[in-house]
Formats: sequence, structure tokens, C-alpha cells
Amino acid sequence: PAASPSDDALRARARAVIPGGLWGHLNAAKLPKGYPQYFTSAEGCRLRDADGREYIDFMCSWGPVVLGHRHPLVEAAARSQADQGDCMNGPAPVLVELAELLVDTIPHADWALLAKNGTDATTACVTIARAATGRRKVLVARGSYHGAVPWCSPSLAGVTAEDRAHLLTFDYNDAESLDVAADAAKGDLAAVIVTAFRHDFGRHQDLPTPEFARHLRALCDATGAALILDDVRAGFRIHLGGSWEPLGVRPDLSAFSKAIANGHPLAAVTGRDRFREAATQVYTTGSFWCGAVPMAAAVATIGELRRIDGPARMKAMGERLRAGLDALSRQYGLPVRQTGPAQMPLMIFEEDPDWAKGDAFCASALRHGAYFHPRHNMFLSCAHTEADIDRALEAAEAGFRAVQRG
Ligand code: PMP
Repeated sequence: PAASPSDDALRARARAVIPGGLWGHLNAAKLPKGYPQYFTSAEGCRLRDADGREYIDFMCSWGPVVLGHRHPLVEAAARSQADQGDCMNGPAPVLVELAELLVDTIPHADWALLAKNGTDATTACVTIARAATGRRKVLVARGSYHGAVPWCSPSLAGVTAEDRAHLLTFDYNDAESLDVAADAAKGDLAAVIVTAFRHDFGRHQDLPTPEFARHLRALCDATGAALILDDVRAGFRIHLGGSWEPLGVRPDLSAFSKAIANGHPLAAVTGRDRFREAATQVYTTGSFWCGAVPMAAAVATIGELRRIDGPARMKAMGERLRAGLDALSRQYGLPVRQTGPAQMPLMIFEEDPDWAKGDAFCASALRHGAYFHPRHNMFLSCAHTEADIDRALEAAEAGFRAVQRG
């Protein structure tokens, strides 16, 4: 392949024609110095940047890549569908196959509808809940991320008070604050939306307590509000039946995206029969939402995740990484806290208020070939092997040494 322009050259050109160089969370300006912005290729758990450097990838495209980059089975399914047609006047037969597969895989799901992005799915869940209940108020946990449109965007630029008029907030895992917010909604409570666990940017992660999850289910049952599980980030990594299956608490509506098609653009809303009629009535669509290639990729992805028990595999590799990082932390006398499910780990240094340690750790590990993130949960894929984890731990050791040097 022809040599790529350098990362620096691409960034300089981008600054002239792309606001801020790049929109959103993938902007490398938000990462420690040395992180590349542009990538030219990826395979398995490895990623190559525009300057030709290779990394073991612990972000997996921020979630979508769950089986590994360019997984052969998924890409074969996508190519085979692409050879027949992608964006046509209606869906390809694979839509029905995929909807059946989702209903078969996810216990709460009596139906599924598809979209492109996670935001499409969370927004559709809220709209369906309002249509079904005829109510307006939606409870959202403070700091939780649900997407990039005015009702939920973390930036208030361009957002009006009216866009948020019917949102009320509570604290994740805090049943009492949930009850206070529900009381404030009075008889107008349409839905409560929660992420699968607390994975807010820039803080330790918290798993949902079973008491909180059960309390939320009981609240929704008592009030008729919809329990919406935003499984966009965690879906297909924790449990293939939905991330709250291990808790024994089932949502009424779920939003999926990210890992559903191993990097192909697709999102899904799944729901219970009670919401089927509302899901029929709301207007939710997009020019590319019936594209067949991502659906074929999703059928292959979910099938393979089921066959190999993807979540168990990622958990095992995540635990190996976590144990190795803990051992290094003790060896170097640099305490860290590791939180969240092993498949989506986060490591934050103790006593690091300005992120100096985390940034130094990540910048050095990056130079030694491991792409970690200091503040956002990371992602394992099924392509990570024990040898990859051990190799990444060597890069992590360089990171701990850099922190020690100050
Ligand atoms: N919900 C959660 C929990 C997410 O992590 C994300 C994406 N980071 C979204 C919703 C929005 O998904 P998308 O960026 O695909 O619109």
C-alpha cells in the first residue's frame, strides 16, 4: 500500500476543514500527548497508526470491535451480503433473520427494531416509552451518558432548557434518590433510563447493586413507567441476553449498538410486548437503517459470540490483565484502583487528582505498544490472547516505571 501521510500532516490539513480537527470523543486532543489520531489498518487485537506504529488495542474502537478487528467470519458475511445488495428500497431477508436472532438471544425481547447509532436507540426507547404511557417525565442518572443529541448530550452548547424540560435526575445505585425523583414526576413518569453499570467518564466504575436494580424494577412495575436499559456500551460483552441478566432484573426496553455487528454500523431497540404497539406508532427511521451489510455482520457476530461464549472469554482475558496490573502496582509501590467488569476495565492511580500519573502511564505504555485509556473504561475483545495480555503487561511495566520516574 502507498505510504500514508503522517499523523501530523493529516492533523494540520484537518484543522483547516474540520471544526476542532475532529468532532466528539475520538478526538485525540483529549488523550495524553503522543496518542495518534489517524489509523491505517487493524487486525485482531492490533491496530496500526498512520505513522506505521502498531499497538495492542484496549479500546476496540471504543466498544464496537468485540470479536477482533476484521474478523474473518464477520467480514465474509458482510462481503457476501454486499455482493448482493446493501441499501435497497427495503430491507434484505437478513433483517428478519437478525430480529429473530435478537428475540431468541435476549430473554426480555419480544420484538426488535434496528437503527444505526446508540443515540438512535436510546432516543427511540424514550420516545416509545412516552408513546406507550402517554406521560412525559424521564429519570436519568446524573453523569450517565446516553448519546449526542439535545435531550442527553453532555455539552449544553446549543441545547435549550426546553430540550431537557421533562428530565429528572437521580444518583446511580441510590434507591432513595430514585424515589425522590419519581415522586417529583408525580403521575407523569414515562421511563427510567439506566446504563448497564456506572461507567461515567473520568471516575471509578460502579457495578449496579442487586438491591438498586430490584428497587428500580419494582418502581417501574408500581408506576407503569418503562425500565429502559441503555446497553449500548456494555451489550454483548457482559452477557449475551442483556447486561442485567446476571442480576435477574429484566428491562422493558433495551438499547444496543456498539458491539452488535463487530464494527459495522448498527443499533437495535428490543422490547416487551407491552411496548409493541407504541413501537409501531412512533416514527423512527433513517435513510440507512435498512442497510443489509451491517445486519449480515450482526448475524455473524452474535452467532460467533454465542458459539465461543464471547463474554466468558473476554472476562478471562480482562482478569488476566487486571491481575497483572495489580501485581505491577504492588511491585512498583504505586497504588491503583481497578473497577468495572473485567471485560470493560478501568485503572485509575490513587492520589492522582490532575491525572499526571495516569497520563504518564498511558503515554509510556503507548510508546511500548499498548493502547490504554487513562480515564475512560477500556474494552477487551475475543481476539485478545494470553500472549497478547502478557505482551501488553510488558508495556504496562514501562508505564509504571515512567510514573515512578515522575
Ligand atoms: N449510550 C451509551 C451508554 C454509550 O456509551 C454511547 C456511546 N458511547 C451511547 C449511548 C451513544 O451511542 P452512539 O455514539 O453510537 O450514538
